[in-house]
Parts: sequence; structure tokens; C-alpha cells
Amino acid sequence: VARKLSMGAEAGSEKAGKVGSRILVFVRLRPMNRKEKEAGSRCCVRMVNRRDVYLTEFANENDYLRLNRLRGRHFTFDAAFPDSATQQEVYSTSTSELVEAVLQGRNGSVFCYGATGAGKTYTMLGTVESPGVMVLAIKDVFSKIRQRSCDGSHVVHLSYLEVYNETVRDLLSPGRPLVLREDKQGIVAAGLTQYRAYSTDEVMALLQQGNQNRTTEPTRANETSSRSHAILQVVVEYRVRDAAMNIINRVGKLSLIDLAGSERALATDQRTLRSLEGANINRSLLALSSCINALVEGKKHIPYRNSKLTQLLKDSLGGTCNTVMIANISPSNLSFGETQNTVHWADRAKEIRAKVSDANEDQLPVPETETDQAKLVLELQKEN
Ligand code: ADP
Ligand code: MG
Repeated sequence: VARKLSMGAEAGSEKAGKVGSRILVFVRLRPMNRKEKEAGSRCCVRMVNRRDVYLTEFANENDYLRLNRLRGRHFTFDAAFPDSATQQEVYSTSTSELVEAVLQGRNGSVFCYGATGAGKTYTMLGTVESPGVMVLAIKDVFSKIRQRSCDGSHVVHLSYLEVYNETVRDLLSPGRPLVLREDKQGIVAAGLTQYRAYSTDEVMALLQQGNQNRTTEPTRANETSSRSHAILQVVVEYRVRDAAMNIINRVGKLSLIDLAGSERALATDQRTLRSLEGANINRSLLALSSCINALVEGKKHIPYRNSKLTQLLKDSLGGTCNTVMIANISPSNLSFGETQNTVHWADRAKEIRAKVSDANEDQLPVPETETDQAKLVLELQKEN
């Protein structure tokens, strides 16, 4: 919580632009579904407290009963959302501070990633009854603008686009693929619809419609492709007067990204990455992990140009952007491999923040010692 507050404080200060890249990483567990229960799944994930995730692998029922003798692995994140977490909690903890920053003319981005079926689209889009981060963010943008009750000078535009097989498409106005061009503001998709939004009411329907336009896998009719990335961009533009009373235009952009299924595609080391490259695995996801690896390692050259997704996200990954990642996981031991992969990668993504100035360092008490680990194991045993 301390770090979350400090992030808000920084976002509001003039220094904020110098802080550089940092990624806050969250993990969200979804409830076990019927199919998993019917298959006799056991839960292999425990959210021990608000920040700690504990994964235990067990091969069979005997293993499960002797859980205390199994080696598990423990990870700490900025927050760990249990399957009971509400959409509002996930939004407030992960994204509301970014909305505040965007209203101050800065950029922010939120990624959901994880295997197909792990809950990315639920987290981002949600349902009519339980709208997700995209809808709650837009709602918050409008309510914060109202609270400021400025002169009505804020203008909100939405764009919703898809990257599928290295082709960029407009989800609000499907048609020909869009071409990416470099202009003063960076890489833009030429001709992308910028929908002027006046209120939240219209937005859910608009996004659901957009989601229906997402590419479906030919082999699995009606199922949204596990290889399609959806990006919602919320652009807030407004005018302020500077010290000399000149009117200046400020633009803040929030990108909300529902990534393609990460199964097998998220590699944390270059060797694995290269071996996957030929295997017809989502190029944009591979490029994203390359960029993140390069950012983590503090490389000078970040290979944004390697894919459409990373080109589009260039200004969201590096520079002065606040970035949030939400890793979605299933509780079932049948998905253990994917869950482990997702959590490992999330753990890796945390390191990007380590390069950042020391301002935040003392606010991150990570339980790393043997005793803390042992305490966790005890807590788990009590729970079982
Ligand atoms: P993904 O986009 O990662 O492939 P989905 O978001 O489509 O996965 O989730 C798969 C299914 O699980 C959907 O039916 C969705 O409604 C359900 N689901 C996912 N997360 C949750 C959650 N936190 N609470 C309730 N249902 C969820
Ligand atoms: Mg999805």
C-alpha cells in the first residue's frame, strides 16, 4: 500500500517525468470453474495475504495430502488478488492512480496477461453486471473530470484496436487493416477511429461491440482468438494556462491491453526466446518479452520495431509512462505449468522497477528469509 500511495504522490509531482520506467505487478486468481472441478482439479495456488502468492506442484492425490512435505514457491507482488476480489477492488488497486496521472497529461498503461482462459478479458472488459478495468477506468475519468468541474475543456476520445497475426485492425470500425506511421507523437495507426465519448453509458455497449469484432480462431468458431491482442486507448485532452498565461494543450493517454494467451510464448531468457521464434508463436508477444527483457537488463537498444504490438506500445513501456501488469492465473493444478510460467514472468517484470531511482526502495519489505518462508508454509498448513 505504501508504494501505491507513493506512486500517486509522484504522479502528481513535477518530478514524476524523471522517474522513468517502472512496472507495478499484480496477480489475480480466478475462481475454479465447473470444468476444472469436474476434472477433479485441486487448487495449486494460495494467496497467502494481500501480496504473497504461493504455488505448489503436486503430481497426484497422495502428493496433495502430504502438501506440507512438498516444496512450494513463494512470490511477492504489489498486490495478490484472491478469487474473491471484486472488479472494483482490482480496478482501484491497480489502475485508479494511472487515471489520475492521465488527467495530469501523462501516459499510463495496463496489461493483462496470462494463458487463455485465465481471466484476462474478464479483468479488462468484464460483463454488464461486473464491468472490468476498461469500463471502470472510463467511468472514473468522467467522474474525476466532473469533480474538477472545470470549464468543460476536457475532451475524451476512445480508440479500440486489435493486433492479430501482425495485422492491426480498428475494432470500432472494422475494415481494412491499419498502417502504422511515425509522426510527432510517435507511432500512430493511420485512420484509426477516435470516438468522442461524452458519458460512460455508451461505453460498455461500444466495447462489447468492439470485442465481437475481435478475430476468432478459424478452428474454434465463436471463440475469441487466443492470439489476438486488444488495445483500448483513452485519450484525455485539456487546456491549461501556463505562468505566462499562454494556453497550452495537455494530452494524457491511458492504454488498456488485453494480451493474447501467453501459453508457451513468454520466455524470460534469450535462448528460449530464439528457439520459440521459428515456432509460429505469437510474434508480438515474443517481441514484448524481448523488450521487457531489454528494459530489465538496462539495454540501450530496446527492440520495439520487432512487432506491431511493441511499436504501438513504445510510449507505454519506456519513458515517462506508468505501467501496470496484471497476471491472470487459474487455480487448477491442471494448469500448473502455465500458471508457473505466468508467475515467473510477472516476477521478472517487477525488476524493471529496480532501475528506478531509490525513492521507492525502502517501501518494499519483501519476506525473503528462511523464517518468513517457514511462516508462510505454516500458514498454508493451517489453511489445509
Ligand atoms: P482469457 O481472456 O484470459 O482467455 P476470460 O477472461 O475469457 O479468459 O475468462 C475465462 C472464463 O472465466 C470466462 O467465462 C470468464 O467469465 C470467467 N472468469 C474469469 N475470471 C473470472 C473471475 N475473476 N470471476 C468470475 N469469472 C471469471
Ligand atoms: Mg480473452
